[in-house]
Amino acid sequence: MRIEEGFDETLRFGAWSPELKARWEEFSSDRINRELRFMHMVGLAICIACLFFDAQAGVLELGLALRLGLVVPAYLVGIALLGRARGLTRTLAATLPVAIFAGVASYLGVVAQGAQTERYILASALLIASGIVFLPLRAGATLFLGIAGFAAIAIPVFPVAGIGPATIGLYFFGLLACTGTVAIKLRNDRLKDSNFILTLKSREAQEELLALNRRLETLSNLDPLTALLNRRGFEQAFAAAFEAARQSDDPMAVLLLDIDHFKRFNDTHGHQTGDRCLVEVGRLLGGEFARHDGIIGRYGGEEFIAALVGKAGREAEAIANRVRAQIAGLVVADDTSAAEAITISIGVRIGSPKTTSRDMFVTDADRALYAAKHAGRNRVVMLADEAAARHGREASEPQARPDFAAGTARP
Ligand code: GH3
Ligand code: MG
Ligand code: MG
Repeated sequence: MRIEEGFDETLRFGAWSPELKARWEEFSSDRINRELRFMHMVGLAICIACLFFDAQAGVLELGLALRLGLVVPAYLVGIALLGRARGLTRTLAATLPVAIFAGVASYLGVVAQGAQTERYILASALLIASGIVFLPLRAGATLFLGIAGFAAIAIPVFPVAGIGPATIGLYFFGLLACTGTVAIKLRNDRLKDSNFILTLKSREAQEELLALNRRLETLSNLDPLTALLNRRGFEQAFAAAFEAARQSDDPMAVLLLDIDHFKRFNDTHGHQTGDRCLVEVGRLLGGEFARHDGIIGRYGGEEFIAALVGKAGREAEAIANRVRAQIAGLVVADDTSAAEAITISIGVRIGSPKTTSRDMFVTDADRALYAAKHAGRNRVVMLADEAAARHGREASEPQARPDFAAGTARP
């Protein structure tokens, strides 16, 4: 879900789109419920601690009965409901225990009489005011708490004392505490709301940037002509596959594949037909190596590179030969319909990643490719550990020619 461009963070919550409200709900719901439950636990502890004042005011017995019989159950039900409550249930679960607490305190004040009445009513008003300011409720629920709180404070006082010079000040104070704080709360909420939109925008901008980066990273690993991995992409994938094969002690094969006489093909049919030929070869190689869970990339020019994991020598050789035969059956025509079959030479180095380095796999595959070209092209030359070691020794002797006889596969 996207926030439209230029979404106005000064917009009031009521004017938010349903999508944005849903985002807000998703973002805040659990946190709000957790906070409300915490506040209720604090309220519950305060309610029980107030028994001390009940004892001082001489209303301990009534206090015990009302607090344990009404307030504590109301808070406990509220806490239980706030585990998952949303909407109206959340409003009632959050506000009613506080209003009941205030109502009980107000009633105890009236029963205690004298200076105690005033004390209890002021404390009740303070309780509602704190609830309004600190409980994480939206405007509607806050207003409800203000009204219910004021009613809870006033209702026990009114039948006993009515409205007179002695009580008018108390009602007025209760009203101020229950309404003045609502204004502060609403203002505070607007700041939080605009902050929420700004957070959302910056988070989306960050996600977009990350997605773009990922796309760029993918593109920078692909060859635009053949859509295969480019050299960089191949090397990354090869490094990961090599490490995995080393850990699991699986054999590996690295293949270097080079189109034969491609310069001549270009000269005869034109560069564009040459490009089309590379695309066709790339598509064929891509499909073939994907089938064997291999990695294939364009190494540069008309040269491709592939890696196969878990294929023993004969299996890798069979795959290489099948690929070579398929390419030999590929006929690429130019604009004048002059068609030409192409061929490819393949050098394969097989071995264990435990004993052969990544560089050696590629270097030896290149040597095998050289041998394939030298032996007449359109063929696969295999190079295994033993042959590679022998070749290493021979290469250090001047004039020595590599001997690939052991692993050579003729077309
Ligand atoms: P060999 O059998 O020994 O590999 O001969 P070759 O002609 O294929 O090898 P050489 O290295 O002499 O020439 C490679 C040619 O590949 C030269 C170049 O024009 C062509 N080539 C390289 N990249 C591209 C490309 O992206 N598009 C086209 N059309 N040709 C390319
Ligand atoms: Mg070539
Ligand atoms: Mg080449």
